[in-house]
Parts: sequence; C-alpha cells; structure tokens
Amino acid sequence: MAGVCQGLVWFVKQLLPPACPLCLRSFPEKWTEPFCADCLSGFRPLPEARCPVCALPYPAGSHSSHRCGRCTVNPPSFTKVYPLGLYQHQLREAIHQFKFNQKVGLDRPLAKLLNRTIVDLTATLIVPVPLHRKRLQQRSYNQALLLARELARLKKLPLARDLLQKTVETPAQQELTARERERNLKRAFQVKGTLDGERILLVDDVLTTGATAVACSRTLLAAGAAEVQVAVLGRALIG
Ligand SMILES: [Zn+2]
Ligand SMILES: [Zn+2]
Repeated sequence: MAGVCQGLVWFVKQLLPPACPLCLRSFPEKWTEPFCADCLSGFRPLPEARCPVCALPYPAGSHSSHRCGRCTVNPPSFTKVYPLGLYQHQLREAIHQFKFNQKVGLDRPLAKLLNRTIVDLTATLIVPVPLHRKRLQQRSYNQALLLARELARLKKLPLARDLLQKTVETPAQQELTARERERNLKRAFQVKGTLDGERILLVDDVLTTGATAVACSRTLLAAGAAEVQVAVLGRALIG
C-alpha cells in the first residue's frame, strides 16, 4: 500500500510545476536551488566569529574565533560542529515542519544545503542521533536518520543507522538547563557492537546546549571511535 501511495505522490508531483518545499510557491524557470530565494534569504549562516568547536556564534562586530568559555573549561567529546545556519526565521520553520509536521520530503533539500557547509570532512562513517523506541513510535520517523541518510548519499559514506541507540527514555529537553540536560542524558545511549577507530559524523537537527551531541559522542568514543564531528541543521544562539 505504501508503495502505491508513494507512486501516486510521485505521479502527481510530475504534473505540478516544481515548487519551494517550504513556502510552496512555484520556482522561477531554471531554478536549481532547493528552496526559493525568499526562503533562502531567511536561512542565516553562522557568523565567521564563532567557537571553532561548538560553533557558538559571537556577538555582531566580534572578529574572534577563540574557543568559547564552556569549550575551554570543559571541552566537549566532539571536535567540531558543522551547522547549516542559525536556528531562527525560515530555517527554524523548516526544521519544525520537518520534525513535527510530517514534512519528511524536506530531508533532501535541507541535506543538500547542509552538505555544502561540510568541508574538509575526515569522517568515515555517518551516524544519526537516535530516538528512543517510544518517541519513534509516536513520531513514526527519526528526522536525524532521514538527514543522515541523505548526507551519506551525498558524501558517499556508509551510514550506520542502528549502531547508536537510545535505550533510556528522557523527558523533553526544551525547558531544562544545560546541567539538567547532561544529567538526563548520561547513560541514555548505547552502541550496538564495537568500533575500531572510525571517524564519525554524528547528525542531528538542532544543537542547543550540545548535551545530546556530548552524550552521543562520549558513548561512541567509549565504544572505540577515534573522533566525532557533528552536523546539524540549526545552531541555537544559547550555548
Ligand atoms: Zn520558499
Ligand atoms: Zn564552544
């Protein structure tokens, strides 16, 4: 049945002019970008002035690229974050649609943009941040896996979709402080099997305090990974 539905969706799409997957307005002729110009102008890139590890943006006018206070005092277990942009405006809207409104078709356009920001990548394996089984049942898909699958295709790297698992259900993170998030996530993840010096690109939708990325990286390193870098769509301003 799912195959028939997908086939129907494909057929209908062929009849309609190509449109921006976010605002649904038709693309101008010969448009090759994954979103329209209006939506793209609302995707704000990270400023050059930012922490080289966690990508925390520094205030406008700053030219520094030193490590932020948190990465200096307590270096995270990942070595670098590749963000598509600031978690604001149209990018925030796109992430919400992708994550909560079943707009799974945003995986390809968002991954295409994210892929452009990932340069000098040394990773040999792509790993999505997992959802707990119960959360996966509620949402029916893991947006990080959809993104990771596209990135693996674009980067021609293997995808380890079930390697990292979330075995402990944790409450929603939004209302918690950084310390509470870290405490919650300690021991929430497990690696199925062992790693042998793999360099990993961990993929998630948003990086806020970095607690999830830290917990996942720690687990991957403990299982034998040599290094973890992180790719996310949105980098939130609070660190
Ligand atoms: Zn648009
Ligand atoms: Zn930092």
